[in-house]
Amino acid sequence: MENLKSLRNIGISAHIDSGKTTLTERMLYYTGRTHVIKEVKGEGAVMDHMELEKERGITITSAATTVRWHDSEINIIDTPGHVDFTVEVERSLRVLDGAVLVLCAVAGVQSQSITVDRQMKRYNVPRIAFINKMDRTGANPVNVISQLESKLGLTTLPLQIPIGSESNFQGMIDLIERRAIYFDGEKGEDVRYGEIPADQIEEAARARQGMLEALSMVSDEVMELLLEEQEVPLELIHKTIREGTIASQICPVMIGTAYRNKGIQPLLDAVCRYLPSPLDREVFAKDNNNGMAEVPLSTDPDAPLVAMAFKLVEETFGQVTYMRVYQGTLQKGTFYYNSRQKKRARISRILRVHADQKEDIDSAQAGDIVAVMGIECATGDTYCSEGVNYSLESIFAAEPVIDLS
Ligand code: GDP
Repeated sequence: MENLKSLRNIGISAHIDSGKTTLTERMLYYTGRTHVIKEVKGEGAVMDHMELEKERGITITSAATTVRWHDSEINIIDTPGHVDFTVEVERSLRVLDGAVLVLCAVAGVQSQSITVDRQMKRYNVPRIAFINKMDRTGANPVNVISQLESKLGLTTLPLQIPIGSESNFQGMIDLIERRAIYFDGEKGEDVRYGEIPADQIEEAARARQGMLEALSMVSDEVMELLLEEQEVPLELIHKTIREGTIASQICPVMIGTAYRNKGIQPLLDAVCRYLPSPLDREVFAKDNNNGMAEVPLSTDPDAPLVAMAFKLVEETFGQVTYMRVYQGTLQKGTFYYNSRQKKRARISRILRVHADQKEDIDSAQAGDIVAVMGIECATGDTYCSEGVNYSLESIFAAEPVIDLS
């Protein structure tokens, strides 16, 4: 990982049937497309890639899939669609730095969205809401936004308003950049920007003002500019949204339809712009050699390794352990100490799982999520460098969330 700042570890959570699977597939498609185009020349390259994905059975069910979007690398971590209150679910949630909460534009906030959101709050996972299925009859994003406020207690920040509705949903107005966004091509692969439609200029101006006023609640700088009736620079808008989102003061809201391929690229942009990188999160471990004292972990690649196994999966290529590296660098071929088992084990392989391929890598740095082979452990186990005896599990262990819905 060249740049930790541009790494995102995200989960996509949703009530069943909201479109989480379709959205994840689209994300893999648009991100995969970038590198495939480079490698495969000629007409039909994109379709070929889609066929290939289908044939191989795209690994969206993989515990963690790594994709690249512009200058960022995104690890999409599988967060269970149905919530059974197991420790396993909580383990998957806590390795996330951020999440996309997918909602159906018709059904709105449903019971599982409430439960998952409560768990996200517990682990301080900042969220972006994506109102999907804007093409469906009865789609009502305004209603969904008010449910996000009333049922989840979120301070929402709509960043877009729709152009057209239901079966005539065409795209959206980007309130930040003040432009229309349309999606052309069979797979919506070509993003086209345009003028705001004449009959929506006033509505967009009002919505934009509302967005800026909401931002002024989290930034004195924005507040002052608004009071002086001055233009708020784009950079300041992005920075304020990012800081407000990371602090969970605001929840950006985006719209689209995964099924009709509209709105996914702007969502990917927002994930990279507004959700935190591993550098934005503070993580502590307990030092078993020092009376379980709490110690802050550092993302310094030269620090001793501290990593946690959060999921064990039987993949087509064998049993793998998904790990998040919290400190230092995980090296292939190296022995590490499992602080629960109190014994050492050797990491024989480190893999990065992409949509349609597995890549063998030699090392993984703090912040990253990778699949490893060669060890036998339980989820929640902590692996450390020689001489270090930390435990991450105890830090995170908390009472289970009780579902009140
Ligand atoms: P999940 O259960 O949240 O993973 O939802 P799926 O991705 O499996 O989608 C559930 C159903 O909704 C499927 O039949 C999808 O084809 C459909 N669907 C997904 N996204 C959209 C959308 O944007 N619009 C419409 N009309 N249907 C969608």
